[in-house]
Amino acid sequence: MERVYNFSAGPSMMPLEVLEKAASEMTNYGEAGMSVMEMSHRSKDFDKIIKDAEALFRELMNIPDNYKVLFLQGGGTTQFSMVALNLLRKSKKADYIVTGQWAKKAMQEAKKFGDIKVVATSEPDVYTYIPKVKREDFREDADYVYICMNNTIYGTRYPYIPDTGDIPLVADMSSNILSQEYDISKFGLIFAGAQKNIGPAGLVVVAIREDLIGFAPENCPVLLDYKTQAEKDSLYNTPPTYSIYFAKLVFEWVKSKGGVKAMQEINERKAAKLYDAIDKSELFKCPVNKEDRSLMNVVFVTGDDALDKKFVAEAKEAGLVNLGGHRTVGGMRASIYNAMPEEGVDKLIAFMEKFEKENK
Ligand SMILES: *Cc1c(COP(=O)(O)O)cnc(C)c1O
Repeated sequence: MERVYNFSAGPSMMPLEVLEKAASEMTNYGEAGMSVMEMSHRSKDFDKIIKDAEALFRELMNIPDNYKVLFLQGGGTTQFSMVALNLLRKSKKADYIVTGQWAKKAMQEAKKFGDIKVVATSEPDVYTYIPKVKREDFREDADYVYICMNNTIYGTRYPYIPDTGDIPLVADMSSNILSQEYDISKFGLIFAGAQKNIGPAGLVVVAIREDLIGFAPENCPVLLDYKTQAEKDSLYNTPPTYSIYFAKLVFEWVKSKGGVKAMQEINERKAAKLYDAIDKSELFKCPVNKEDRSLMNVVFVTGDDALDKKFVAEAKEAGLVNLGGHRTVGGMRASIYNAMPEEGVDKLIAFMEKFEKENK
């Protein structure tokens, strides 16, 4: 069977060149005589892999020098707990903006550890927009403000970075990391589960401002303490070595394509084409507020559940797979991360036009 265009929200499509490179090195990495999977995490070869991965990530995302970059386990979700455990450090208050299920889960987890306030939410409108917040909306003594930058399930993204003044801003960037340029100095901490734009599921990449490290309570589990992880350069225990190696290959690929700036241009073009096709169509519509539309996850519906299902099934037959919306919302969702070639989006648009003609 040929490779398909995989529109899955995550785990999602990886660049073919990267998969092929990993395959070519699978059984024997460089001069090592073994697979990266078989290598000691204390070996010279692996030390170079993790250092290169970090250097590339810093370069691509323009991470300032006063931030630590960590390669951890437990996916995006473990960060919901780690953020609260470590950053509720003075008043034990944190303010959350709830723009989807991931932000809500993070908020619910944080409630176990402190005084959590939902400052704004778009839940009553099925998360179809990003609330506008101002500096004055946050509690002055909040330890941090939390946002989910791109809402994978609902297809929205922040078109702006909220102004939180001196309060550290924490952002879940799982589904938008490496997709567009950001001023990281505006954030206290960012994290990204790898399976959307970086690599294998389970790995999570964190960038944390150094002055926010070292505040976990005494009884914090050792691996959930950013201080442990930062002091040991993510090597307190055996890190997910193969996933870190794979992430390094993806970072090299992004760099070879011109870096995040070039990715952003392509992503904006891909998304604009697809939204344009949806807006012009009489069959499909996008329920999301125009200015908040995600570059990565394009959500659309026909308004008829049976027709949506037919679309998803027939698209699959045409080699365009995983176009069903999240199991809790239905409809369609095309996840068009960095690795989705522009050709995949063109094929999808052509398929949508054909489907519309056939189903008038
Ligand atoms: C996928 C996703 C998560 C969850 O990641 P896991 O690795 O499954 O824990 C969290 N936040 C966002 C924005 C996501 O897209």
